[in-house]
Amino acid sequence: MEEEKKSLFWADQLARQTIERGKREGRTPNIKCQQTPSGGKHIGNLNDVLRAYFVYKSIIEKGERCDFVHGSDDRDPLKDIPAKIMDLEGKWHSSGEFQSIQNYLGHPLCHVPDPFGCCQSWSRHFTKIWMEGIEQLDVHPELYYNDDLYKEGKFDRYVETVFRKKEEVSKIVQEFQGSKQEGYIPFDAICPKCGMLTNVNGFDLEKKTVSFVCGGKAIKEKKTQGCGFEGEAPWREGKLQWRFEWPALWCIWNTAYEPFGKDHWEGSWKSGVEIMKRVYEVEPPIPFVYEFFLVNGKKMSASKGNVYVVQDMLKVMEKEAFLFFYAKRPEKQRDLELGEIYRLIDEFDLAERIYFNQAEDRSENREENTKRMYDMSVPEKPRACPKRINYSFASSLAQVYNIDECMKRLKELGHVSESPLDEKLARERLELASFWAENYAPPEMRVKVNAKEEAQKIREGMDAGVKEVLIEFALLLDEEEKELYEKMKGECKEKGVEMAKFFESAYTALLSKNKGPRLIPFAKALGKERVMELMGA
Ligand SMILES: [Zn+2]
Ligand SMILES: [Zn+2]
Repeated sequence: MEEEKKSLFWADQLARQTIERGKREGRTPNIKCQQTPSGGKHIGNLNDVLRAYFVYKSIIEKGERCDFVHGSDDRDPLKDIPAKIMDLEGKWHSSGEFQSIQNYLGHPLCHVPDPFGCCQSWSRHFTKIWMEGIEQLDVHPELYYNDDLYKEGKFDRYVETVFRKKEEVSKIVQEFQGSKQEGYIPFDAICPKCGMLTNVNGFDLEKKTVSFVCGGKAIKEKKTQGCGFEGEAPWREGKLQWRFEWPALWCIWNTAYEPFGKDHWEGSWKSGVEIMKRVYEVEPPIPFVYEFFLVNGKKMSASKGNVYVVQDMLKVMEKEAFLFFYAKRPEKQRDLELGEIYRLIDEFDLAERIYFNQAEDRSENREENTKRMYDMSVPEKPRACPKRINYSFASSLAQVYNIDECMKRLKELGHVSESPLDEKLARERLELASFWAENYAPPEMRVKVNAKEEAQKIREGMDAGVKEVLIEFALLLDEEEKELYEKMKGECKEKGVEMAKFFESAYTALLSKNKGPRLIPFAKALGKERVMELMGA
């Protein structure tokens, strides 16, 4: 236990607190995360799930018990329609194709029809896609829907408490939402006539109903137009407003730990703590606030359509590398540059070597922490350090040859061993890097090898010394990488050509650009014969 106490890994620290709380309360601690199935959830929202998962995993590893649940807030209203939405095959569609959905703004998501018609509702469709993404990461929380909890009466106690303590509730609403009128009831009914969520104006504790005149609920600063229907509806067919619903869920699940984005920190978390103390009289969970992600320097936004989901990311990176990104310190804002995804993967590869004591750690993380981050991100750990193909190298190669040909060359050059695991990992990386090159690589990472004639024309404009050095390089290509490099240094010196000039010229002759993938491994993979042709040897 002594060793554990020293762990710097953020999730280990939270795991300890969560275990202690469970012991103190004499029950299995619950870890919860949740999403509103709005249709626009992205890898930034995944923070919620993974910041919960790593703590859960740490607890289980310590041999302790813990429950891990994921909620779908599917009685929330449809507030707007994302610019693009995904079908069950993982294909994005412009939401313009589905005009009729506009008629459901203000309706609870569990009652909005599935735009693709394949699932029971909008909520079920997008929850399905979301959960499939999570399962692909080998993360398996137990899923629940708020709609079910309301129907089953799980919220009854808390709805009743909110109504019984209406004076205290009103005070809290005033403290946190000063614009609401005194006596405001933080509960919405689903109008049986038009299906919209609507504010209520009274309740009946005996009949367990609320009364309302349908209309006028604010959704994103706009007022929805209700139908004016005046009547009553059972509690179980409505919902507590978010500020009261979230803490009610903590009570229903006995939540001991919950992560959430910093947007909740100032607002609903603070009111939630007061509600737990003064209304439900239960201790709030251990909170954990994470920072948001940027993608290509911008906030992901469903309405703008620059949204990526797990399924998109697993087309360009291994799930371990993707998880590793989320194991990093959560209080720092991270930017995921899709054009530079190889940097992140290099970082993961390095962490792997550090884990297997084949490299030292010089990063922001101390060595033990890096090892722990790796440990937590890799669901099935290899027995020995795998030999990975550098991602940028893989992407360059995959732009020149098909995957089988790449594999053949990599094996010949000793980049891939005969071990089935190495082979599997190399093939997987080539496929990922190939997809990345096609879809996200910036111009400087795109590679097209010149035809013989093109290269010849380019070489004509070069100095005599440079031409000779290039020929020598092609002829020496069978040498080991290190020796070849040393020999080229001598060769360049002799011919009065600067090394930088040699590299630039070699790239120009091969690729018509002055930079490219690491020259020696790349040229070796092209093969001596082809390089000789291009260098005029
Ligand atoms: Zn569907
Ligand atoms: Zn209505």
